[in-house]
Amino acid sequence: MTEPTPIGHGGRLTIDLAALRANWRILAKAAECPETAAVIKADAYGSGIARAAPALWAEGCRTFFVAHLSEGLSARRALPDAVIYVLNGFPPGTARAYRDADLRPVLGSRDEVAEWAAANREAGRRPAALHVDTGMNRLGFAVPEALALAGDPVMAEAGFDLLMSHLVSAEVEHDPLTDRQAAAFARVRAAYPGLRASLANSSGDFLASCRADLARPGYALYGGNPRPGHDNPMRPVMRLEAGILQVREVEAGATAGYNARWTAREPRRLATLSLGYADGFPRASTGRGEAVVGGVRCPFVGNVSMDLIILDVTEAPREALFRGAPATLIGDGLDLETVGRNAGTIGYEILTGLGRRYERVYRD
Ligand SMILES: *Cc1c(COP(=O)(O)O)cnc(C)c1O
Repeated sequence: MTEPTPIGHGGRLTIDLAALRANWRILAKAAECPETAAVIKADAYGSGIARAAPALWAEGCRTFFVAHLSEGLSARRALPDAVIYVLNGFPPGTARAYRDADLRPVLGSRDEVAEWAAANREAGRRPAALHVDTGMNRLGFAVPEALALAGDPVMAEAGFDLLMSHLVSAEVEHDPLTDRQAAAFARVRAAYPGLRASLANSSGDFLASCRADLARPGYALYGGNPRPGHDNPMRPVMRLEAGILQVREVEAGATAGYNARWTAREPRRLATLSLGYADGFPRASTGRGEAVVGGVRCPFVGNVSMDLIILDVTEAPREALFRGAPATLIGDGLDLETVGRNAGTIGYEILTGLGRRYERVYRD
């Protein structure tokens, strides 16, 4: 894109809904499961649930996962007829809210199951998912507990229609933990023969051992690479650009930014971008981040500030450097993994931390 960024916004986030839909298709094919869902927690990984969820629905996705009740309510507004599971279970006293919005909690403790079963006895049976923990030690019943509970009447009263577990390191090739988890999951599955089963996240979608009835990709839908170290099979969905506010020439010895953390060793040309850590662009990118200007990757210099980033644009073509000219922070070869690495984190955190003050443009 070559249009200047709009007045009044520091940056422009462009969300390619056609790419999102294509990615769901790619994942549905790779997963080789009867059904492929979409994980749309954290505002659809920063892409905007109100637009992303209906786009996925239009492509044929019928089952969705969010993390919290409040996200479930947003998802329900966007998806009146979808099946929506809430991964973090349900907080005490909220069964009514789940039932009213036709949301299915993912239950992983005796207390949760007992409370959901009680609501089902009182007001009629509503489905839920059963979460079994096969190695994360985070959420869900431990495997022996799940096996022991298999014949318990309370489990029938809870109305389970899905059995799920979550992979610890599916993105790590040949990690023996993945196969151990798949084997443990198979044991629990055998004890709950009536339930559909779901194990794979984005990376698990590409592993034969993780096939089940329902795949649950998230990150890869939004363009993240589910197979680190291999070419990314996904299409990029998110593009982030910011406008250049000023360009200046500095002499050797000049410093840039708060606390003068960078010093020019020779005369350099600097450009100031209208975005910073208050936009969700990590301050930890200081000294490592990059932006593409006129097709050239330019390094950040000095500390990332709240609303501004300084770039060394000495190598960029002069005609690409004007007031309002775009610099690309995600896109043009800067993929989510690179941006994450440059901030000492992962692409997931970059996506889900994207700020609220960008102009959002949806393309389809
Ligand atoms: C977030 C999440 C997913 C999606 O994982 P990705 O790695 O983003 O594909 C699937 N299942 C559970 C339980 C999750 O918390």
